[in-house]
Amino acid sequence: MSGLKALDQTYVARTYNRFPVEIVSGKGSTVYDPDGKRYIDMGSGIGVTSFGIADDAWQKAVTDQLAKVQHMSNLYYTEPCAKLAQMLCKRTGMKKVFFANSGAEANECAIKVARKYAAEKKGAEYFTIVTLENSFHGRTLTTLAATGQDHFHELFQPLTPGFVHAPANDLQACIRAAEENKAAAIMIECIQGEGGVRVLDKAFVQGVAQYAAENDLLLIVDEVQTGNGRTGEMYAYMNYGIQPDVVSTAKGLGGGLPLGAALLSEKVENVLGFGDHGSTFGGNPVCCAGAISIIERIDDALLAEVKAKSAYLFAELSGAPGVAFVTGMGLMVGIKTEKPAGEVLKKCMENGVLCLTAKDKVRLLPALNISWEELKEAVAIIKAACAA
Ligand SMILES: *Cc1c(COP(=O)(O)O)cnc(C)c1O
Repeated sequence: MSGLKALDQTYVARTYNRFPVEIVSGKGSTVYDPDGKRYIDMGSGIGVTSFGIADDAWQKAVTDQLAKVQHMSNLYYTEPCAKLAQMLCKRTGMKKVFFANSGAEANECAIKVARKYAAEKKGAEYFTIVTLENSFHGRTLTTLAATGQDHFHELFQPLTPGFVHAPANDLQACIRAAEENKAAAIMIECIQGEGGVRVLDKAFVQGVAQYAAENDLLLIVDEVQTGNGRTGEMYAYMNYGIQPDVVSTAKGLGGGLPLGAALLSEKVENVLGFGDHGSTFGGNPVCCAGAISIIERIDDALLAEVKAKSAYLFAELSGAPGVAFVTGMGLMVGIKTEKPAGEVLKKCMENGVLCLTAKDKVRLLPALNISWEELKEAVAIIKAACAA
């Protein structure tokens, strides 16, 4: 490990402040370092390994496809891409899917759709997208501009123009921002993940959806972190009784391989035409085959399990010693701890539980199929770390 640390720090760009842990193997939500130290993984690669590490069904789907065709350009048809698109449309009522390789790229597609739709429908001056303060939409210069957190912006000016930020849960301010800026779209995360696992109010989200529908603005819901079963519904917007025009997703979709998607409703299914957008790797057959094995298992029984495990986490952690309050939905949980979140995370790591943080909270994003045994063991260690 000390050799690896030096190698990594010498040659890998220093954009990540890594924890002093190397993971070499695992199964499900249990992973191991080179010395055989065992950890329960409550982060699942930031909500990516939806069914855990080395999941049998996912591994088989991926390796079967890998043995057939690992890549063809998007100039040709491959089956996993078309089948996955059909599955996603059936689950959401959406009509078309554009595949990308990441969350930021899924959002880039959503933004391009909004710009083209509004330019054609209302005029070229309708290009602005309203996003929310404290949001996170990605690291490209455009999705950074969309991200409503100034500290991400400072070093990278000028960012892509055409984004304004409105306070979350303030419908009038959001509508005002849209009116004053000739907005093309409003883009939200139903739960601000990187922003500290903050759940948006139902009335606000429904109000935004209604305003967007009445004024022919597109409602884009960024489900990169909240999607694919994470909140106990297939997509988080389903908890709000709304129907977005565009949904972007990534993280948990591929189960561990890079895959993003922009889901397009009937209103915008044909906005992008031949040559308007593309991606060399987008819709890669191996990634899509893995994703099919994920999506086909996110059924009512699994979603009920997610909800039951969520209820258990909230019941155990709310009011526990050292815990101020708990936020989130499903298996996307934020714990406001009395001690700094980083300290709690460190204590958990020492005691064999890998957690995440988000702003001032400890954040949990375990695999959707984490076992009750692993969950209970992790909760005991997290509670002890909060109380210590
Ligand atoms: C992680 C995340 C992104 C960025 O995804 P990448 O795959 O890192 O580009 C965008 N939006 C939200 C809500 C996210 O959580």
